[in-house]
Amino acid sequence: MTVLARGSRGTRSEDVRRGNLSTLLTYVHVHGATPRSTLTSALGLNRSTIGGLTGELVAAGLVCEEPGRSYPTDDGTARSGGRPSYVVTPETERVQVLAVDVGVTHLTVARIGLGGVVLARRDRVYRRGARRPGDVTTAIAKIGTELIGEVSGDAVVLGVGVAVPGMVRRGDGLVRQAPNLGWRDAPVGAVLAEKLGLHVSVGNDADLGIRAEHVRGAAAGVLDAIYLSGHSGVGAGIIGSGTPLGGRTGYAGEVGHTVVNPGGLPCHCGSRGCWETECGEERLFELAGRPVGGGLTGVQEVVAAAAAGDRVARAALEHVAVWLGRGTANIVNALNPEVVILGGALEEVFMAAGDTVRAEFELSALAAPLDQVCIVTPHLGRDSTLVGASELAFDALLSDPLLELSRRTAS
Ligand SMILES: [Zn+2]
Repeated sequence: MTVLARGSRGTRSEDVRRGNLSTLLTYVHVHGATPRSTLTSALGLNRSTIGGLTGELVAAGLVCEEPGRSYPTDDGTARSGGRPSYVVTPETERVQVLAVDVGVTHLTVARIGLGGVVLARRDRVYRRGARRPGDVTTAIAKIGTELIGEVSGDAVVLGVGVAVPGMVRRGDGLVRQAPNLGWRDAPVGAVLAEKLGLHVSVGNDADLGIRAEHVRGAAAGVLDAIYLSGHSGVGAGIIGSGTPLGGRTGYAGEVGHTVVNPGGLPCHCGSRGCWETECGEERLFELAGRPVGGGLTGVQEVVAAAAAGDRVARAALEHVAVWLGRGTANIVNALNPEVVILGGALEEVFMAAGDTVRAEFELSALAAPLDQVCIVTPHLGRDSTLVGASELAFDALLSDPLLELSRRTAS
């Protein structure tokens, strides 16, 4: 269905064309419906080139075009006279991926369309406990198969992106260590690829959280930003100078396991006094006198109790808020970000005890980086990690649209 490399007129021009298709499709994936005139200026290409590229993407079924009505020009003034510019829109219903967010107490599997639109989802909540990797991959495959079965006849599901709260080996999606899940060397990527018959990419939840917020959320347009993913554990996804910082093999960002209180509590990682043992949700539950493993709902219950005057709940909330402020200051001192996004349970703590978080943060942060940073909540709400997983699954398509589409539709 897709024409590739029609007559090889030279490698250079073919590479340029493929690069331009990638850039154009990525632009409309991120920005949504876009007039051709905007694409012309944003991509620095002339009108006929943009027309040719969009024509190829339309023929492939990746975007559609329709005549625009009245769009403002780049300087914000109304366009007057002339023909309206065609508007290029991603084919959200036709081009989809599966996105999976694996948590200690939750599992979300969703179909997400080109443009980052959540089309369908299944959310499962679990009590904390030993969930074996095989049980989780079986659940994902079952739900994923159901979701794929719902797509219309001409739609294509390109692949799967999975977010896991642990250290993931790039390349094959092996989860090397996920302390809060109790997993070591779990071949999540390979098993799901076998079960679903699709290409599967696996990433760390915080890395995918910052990715989504950087593409279309609170860190859009920001070069140095950090997403702190907080549930049972705490991890950091880091963008430095506009580039993801993963370290040598992608394991960077395990800030929850920095030791802040050597005489403190044992951690699931085997150490003692890690930051997440003081600011994570398990600490909140313990101090509030509630059963561990309550997940986000349990955190919200503690917050509600504190707001209603429960002193024990309030003291528990203040404790984790103090440590959240201190630990965030350590990170800001080390990395000098412009934005720190608090996700998951950390968002709940920040919303309920923001004054305490800020006060402790300001006590511990150095003046120079303190002046330059904003602490915010995710623009994508609870879905940062899920949407980030979808971005992972869209990578191959966006890097070489027609080649990747032909591969997926041929298989
Ligand atoms: Zn630890």
